[in-house]
Amino acid sequence: MQILVTNDDGIIAEGLWVLARELAKIASVTVVAPDRERSAIGTAVTLRHPLRVKPVKPPVPGVVAYSVDGTPSDSVILALGKLMEGRVDLVISGINHGPNLGEDVHISGTVGAALQGYLRGFSAIAVSAPDESERHLDTAARAATALVKRMEENPPPRRLFLNINLPDRPLAGVAGVKITRLARESHINTVEEDSHGRQKYYWLERERLGETEDSDTDIWAIEHGHISITPLYFSHDDKPPKPLLDGLCSGLLKELKSR
Ligand code: MN
Repeated sequence: MQILVTNDDGIIAEGLWVLARELAKIASVTVVAPDRERSAIGTAVTLRHPLRVKPVKPPVPGVVAYSVDGTPSDSVILALGKLMEGRVDLVISGINHGPNLGEDVHISGTVGAALQGYLRGFSAIAVSAPDESERHLDTAARAATALVKRMEENPPPRRLFLNINLPDRPLAGVAGVKITRLARESHINTVEEDSHGRQKYYWLERERLGETEDSDTDIWAIEHGHISITPLYFSHDDKPPKPLLDGLCSGLLKELKSR
């Protein structure tokens, strides 16, 4: 199995390598990622200037790695179109340092990179964990890898695009794994105005709205301590049937906790 791993936090981000290390136990892994942090850049691609690619000495043995002086989407397009040889089975983006939930997935560079893989016909997974915690990165990497293994053992009939988020809890406290839909809510919903001297300036900020009531959404799942797995798709034909997703995720938490 050959997997492309990318992210939007940049080639030196810890989440990228925790994921690559876990995946490398079951697959051949190529990492192609931006040379710096490019979060919240969505699916942007670079068309007005040339891109440069540098081989990177990977911290994980056996992994091939490159950095790109472009966006997460540039990295995926370059990897699939030029850098990788042979059959690619899957594109995985993450582990993002911070959640990607609700309508914010449309600005997420993590999800944007996975989308580029999906649009090119590959199954794709975006993985995000709460900010600044190693324990979440490890759980996220193991959850993603367990899913990948299941997809290898029982290949889905058509490509899948999954957005996975981890709750802010240690693995022992995780309540479950929930198949969800995107909440109709954006966290980037506030403009803060301030000034220094005569000059005004603005910050676009995240402000939580009230409690999410809809228990089938990704935000609800995270707030209630579940691992959220949201299938993303664009046409009805690509909507994964519920039994397939249930099968893919059944017993997943038990499997993670048993190790
Ligand atoms: Mn990011």
